[in-house]
Amino acid sequence: MDTFSHALWGYGLFGFRKYPKFAALMGAMPDLISFGALFFMRVMDGTYQWGKPALATLPGWIYPAYTVGHSFVIAFAVIGLVAIWRKDIAFAMLAWPFHIMLDFPFHSLQYFPTPMFWPVSDFKVDGIPWSTWYIWFPNVAGIILLLAYRQHQKKRLTTRIDY
Ligand SMILES: [Zn+2]
Repeated sequence: MDTFSHALWGYGLFGFRKYPKFAALMGAMPDLISFGALFFMRVMDGTYQWGKPALATLPGWIYPAYTVGHSFVIAFAVIGLVAIWRKDIAFAMLAWPFHIMLDFPFHSLQYFPTPMFWPVSDFKVDGIPWSTWYIWFPNVAGIILLLAYRQHQKKRLTTRIDY
């Protein structure tokens, strides 16, 4: 999915108890440390071009950065360690594995398939790219429904406190 959708899913699903901004950041993090960093570098040196970068133009470091961010094994290991120390922070961090869950069915083998079990297994799914209209529109609809639900929940909570 696009990075912004990931941030909103993370915010909506795991940022409703505490740390909403952190949950959004964790939702987007796997893409920020790879494509986000590349975007930033290209904007800084003036070589940025709109659109999906062609595979041949990508620097080598983007692959390990993408792999580490898109592995359930790494995500759950890190979150497990954080949970020993702070359960509330670990909960917001679940936006990270949710990102991976949203990515693996919606990336084809041609462009960054999700290395979800790295380094244990090399298994990857040949998914339908998220930019396909019948994937992307339900994604947006899902985000709108989720955020509307959270808004409704918040309102109910505040009216309860008002009594
Ligand atoms: Zn991703």
